[in-house]
Amino acid sequence: MSQDPGDAFVARDDRSVYETELPVLYDVKDGIATVTMNRPTFNNAQNSQMTYALDASFRRAVDDDAVKVIVLRGAGKHFSAGHDIGTPGRDIDKPFDRQSLWWDHTNKPGGEQYFVREQEVYLGMCRRWHDLPKPTIAMVQGACIAGGLMLAWVCDLIVASEDAFFQDPVVRMGIPGVEYFAHAHELNPRVAKEFLFLGERMPAARAQQMGMVNRVVPRDELEARTYEWAAKIAAQPRMGLALTKTVINRVEELQGLRTTMDIAFGYHHFAHTHSQLLGAGTLGGQDAKSMVAGNKAAEKKTG
Ligand code: ZN
Repeated sequence: MSQDPGDAFVARDDRSVYETELPVLYDVKDGIATVTMNRPTFNNAQNSQMTYALDASFRRAVDDDAVKVIVLRGAGKHFSAGHDIGTPGRDIDKPFDRQSLWWDHTNKPGGEQYFVREQEVYLGMCRRWHDLPKPTIAMVQGACIAGGLMLAWVCDLIVASEDAFFQDPVVRMGIPGVEYFAHAHELNPRVAKEFLFLGERMPAARAQQMGMVNRVVPRDELEARTYEWAAKIAAQPRMGLALTKTVINRVEELQGLRTTMDIAFGYHHFAHTHSQLLGAGTLGGQDAKSMVAGNKAAEKKTG
């Protein structure tokens, strides 16, 4: 028998209870596929159930010749509060049909469990979605926090309402930002440091100034303005769009996006494992409740 100290972490029970069988809604109209995150009760916190449903929806949109462009949105008040770290549907120990070639993480010891899981469901999925051959538009209202940023960033365009805000507070967990580390590419490095060090909300208007968001519109016009752009894109030829997207995505890689993420992912997992070694769990002793409280405190701004 192995005496690997990591055995303590092997095969934890999955006790997740889903509040819905439809964590993602899918619809197609006039060449536009709409993919809607549908956990409004939990501000669209992303569990694995939702992740795999998102992936299936994107696959469906790519396979459907009638679809030219994809809109990703969130039901309810907020786009996404981030990864699910505390709802009854948190399902990190549940096995799913994997979409990458990484093996099942659920019965693996030590740091392997988290590393393999996050290669599949966060880094791998996000890279896969970023490279979808059809254009994607994130339609963002309200909160777009941490894991929510990853979902907006993988899209080609971001249209936000005036009340939308962007935030990555995971430094408070002792972790250098979310798994899909695009911060210093989406923002310039100095602003990325401010964004991460302070963990404050970045309003949509500033995100637009930084080039992270394409368009900011009043909340009651968000849907109309987003679909106006989607309709224009849907009128373009499929291959013209696919080839253009591919070239610009390769430019991002030449600018170092992929390498940055590989480096950051290693540090990210050192942080998860370091936290485990200190006996503080994988999240630096934080949970959903303490993170919400910390996010509120971060809003007592210095101006
Ligand atoms: Zn992580």
